Amino acid sequence: MECPKCHSHNAHLCSMAHEQGTTTTVTYGGAGRGSFDSTSQTTTALGKRAAPPKSGMPVRVAFTAITGFLFLSALIAGHGDSGAYGGVAFLFLLFAAAAYLLYRKVKSLPQYNLERERWEKSWICAACGNIFAPETAAE
Ligand SMILES: [Zn+2]
Repeated sequence: MECPKCHSHNAHLCSMAHEQGTTTTVTYGGAGRGSFDSTSQTTTALGKRAAPPKSGMPVRVAFTAITGFLFLSALIAGHGDSGAYGGVAFLFLLFAAAAYLLYRKVKSLPQYNLERERWEKSWICAACGNIFAPETAAE
């Protein structure tokens, strides 16, 4: 695949470039009962550029927030002291924010799928970093 910008032939599919640019390192340490291992990921600059589009906030974060709200409001309602009203109002705002984020997430899903589909067909040039789609490059 030739880069339409610099005409280098050093272009790769974004998905490939991202995968190859990400290195997972497992470190082992200690011995016997005190041993541990940790995993760390490093991504090269090119790998980062070729990363897939972000899906925004995961749905489960919103669900966690909503569940947390219900739990906390039940807790406060159980207490029944006068200071609780301020807390409920604050939690209601949190709940509204979570509901709004969830709504935005659901709304942005088709757009994300489109971006993801485009990304899967996109190429990245290792020489100049240009990201392009073959169909638009065929001019
Ligand atoms: Zn290029």
